[in-house]
Amino acid sequence: MAKILCVLYDDPIDGYPTSYPRDDLPTIERYPDGQTLPTPNAIDFQPGQLLGSVGGELGLRKFLEAGGHQLIVTEAKDGPDSEFERELVDADVVISQPFWPAYMTAERFAKARNLKLVVTAGIGSDHTDLQAAIENGVTVAEVTYCNSISVAEHVVMMILGLARNYLQSWDLVKAGGWNIADCAARSYDIEGMHVGTVAAGRIGSAVLRRLKPFDVHLHYTDRHRLPAEVEAELGVTFHDSAADMVPHCDVVTINAPLHPETENLFDAAMIARMKRGAYLVNTARGKIANREAVADALESGQLAGYAGDVWFPQPAPRNHPWRTMPNHGMTPHISGTTLSAQARYAAGTREILECFLEGRPIREEYLIVDGGRLAGAGAHSYSEGNATKGSEEAEQFKVPLPPIPAQ
Ligand code: NDP
Repeated sequence: MAKILCVLYDDPIDGYPTSYPRDDLPTIERYPDGQTLPTPNAIDFQPGQLLGSVGGELGLRKFLEAGGHQLIVTEAKDGPDSEFERELVDADVVISQPFWPAYMTAERFAKARNLKLVVTAGIGSDHTDLQAAIENGVTVAEVTYCNSISVAEHVVMMILGLARNYLQSWDLVKAGGWNIADCAARSYDIEGMHVGTVAAGRIGSAVLRRLKPFDVHLHYTDRHRLPAEVEAELGVTFHDSAADMVPHCDVVTINAPLHPETENLFDAAMIARMKRGAYLVNTARGKIANREAVADALESGQLAGYAGDVWFPQPAPRNHPWRTMPNHGMTPHISGTTLSAQARYAAGTREILECFLEGRPIREEYLIVDGGRLAGAGAHSYSEGNATKGSEEAEQFKVPLPPIPAQ
């Protein structure tokens, strides 16, 4: 019998949904590069249900309990007295999501003597100290590709939202106003702009493809170049580094994993290299952009806008400066947890668990760490080291204020 400890975000404030705005999800046959969608033996949920919150349990309970395993699901993930910390000591498997990450620090690995597998129900395992996983012989896996397109769509939305001054115009309407000049004085077309992505992996290249019909000039930087025919098809210009690329761009979008090479990449010096009035969209990881440098650049006008959905730590403390800086379009970490994405990452998590529990190999493309080394997708995208920490600061989210419902 295995003990599976699963950390998920809270249910909606009004309770677990009993109905949804739409009745079904479109059928996706394959991911754009041909990779197959998750292939568990079965699923015990209806695609389109809320699965990423505690009430949804990733659709895992029936399957795990039928196999005699124990499933513990909690949202209480931070601090020494949290349920997560208590249950971790004899857990065999930890599952969490980047949206509401269980920060797997070296200290937590040291406590979790039975731990064999850490699963990210999503993409991006930077909340896990990969070096500690390597040293403790723990496998780390994630559901590669499950929400890459979800994020790419969000990036395009945010670029347009910032450039067109959508959020401030919407606020004005909600407040009963009609002052068109206030809306228009910060509003631009993106046609003709230069848009660059830091990384052209699954998300970055999907963003490039989606932006091409807007008649913008496309740029990218990455550790490896795209095939020449893809560069030609997209008409995209390669730059050796982010520092080389950003002076050419009106819009920069960050789509690289967080690892020691990318942590704090967008510091004051990098932002100073950008054009005055550029837009920066970061849906990759909060720690890639320097918190104070971003807030300062919005105050000074060096950046005309900043948007994204990733913060550090998560949940963001109530006093996080990004909540109140001007001209931002930040959301909580939601781009990769649409109901569409949830159906894929819940199925992918089940596929990984089925493999683990039945002693079958986990798909190479899902592996980040295995056998005491970076493996599979992890060997390609990450470098060893640690950029995790942060659970102490996430505790500050718990100041006694009521949760704020979405409008
Ligand atoms: P991929 O692995 O497909 O792409 C990552 C790309 O980043 C690769 O092309 C990789 O290069 C490149 N890269 C790595 N390091 C650098 C660097 N120092 N400079 C430039 N490029 C670099 O992953 P995805 O596109 O699917 O996801 C990217 C990231 O987005 C995830 O790691 C995660 O942090 C974030 N994400 C956010 C989500 C959200 O909800 N907001 C959801 C999903 C992901 P190469 O392979 O050539 O070495």
